[in-house]
Amino acid sequence: MNSEKTFQQKYSESSPEMCRNPTQKRKNYLDWDEYFMALVFLSAQRSKDPCTQVGACIVDNEKRIVAVGYNGMPRGCDDDVFPWGKSGTKLENKHLYVCHAEVNAILNKNSHDVKNCTLYVGLFPCNECAKMIIQSGIKTVIYMSDKHAHKISTIAAKRMFEAANIEIRQYIPKKKEITINFDDINWNNQNQMPATPSKDDLCSNPSEQPRLRPS
Ligand SMILES: [Zn+2]
Repeated sequence: MNSEKTFQQKYSESSPEMCRNPTQKRKNYLDWDEYFMALVFLSAQRSKDPCTQVGACIVDNEKRIVAVGYNGMPRGCDDDVFPWGKSGTKLENKHLYVCHAEVNAILNKNSHDVKNCTLYVGLFPCNECAKMIIQSGIKTVIYMSDKHAHKISTIAAKRMFEAANIEIRQYIPKKKEITINFDDINWNNQNQMPATPSKDDLCSNPSEQPRLRPS
């Protein structure tokens, strides 16, 4: 017998029998931090950077996503033409060109502003992003990795965050992984109990026909 759990079993903790007569809500749903940090790393998968893929996600006080971003070349700067390397002359390496994930998220927000919002990001922001984070009104930064803690740009960023009273928190994952396996999902094999009534079923009894407007 196949001991591998299906997607539904892994994420719903429920057997088909339980789904027929649910009595309580699911327990292992993603909490907010897990959800937004997963979006950060999903967005990072869009990055063309061969070495470092960073994502960012900005959330307002009502947990609404107002922006996502990842590191990439500015619009119009062909990412097949501009350099992705880290060595060579300054003009021939990526650092002068790439927009960091935080910058792309802030500049591409879909809300009026990001005042008092929370920024989730994979890597602790550099000093240039820190300036923009502070000036945009973001109040909280939740990051995953601080691997550049020794760099002067990170030290400067921390100095500015502290002065500007930005709350900084490291995200410590509770789950080892969050997986979306499209093979596991396989919706076609999942039965819905009871089956959704067809239009013909609904209309077979005239007294049960749906009303379009209150009578
Ligand atoms: Zn940066």
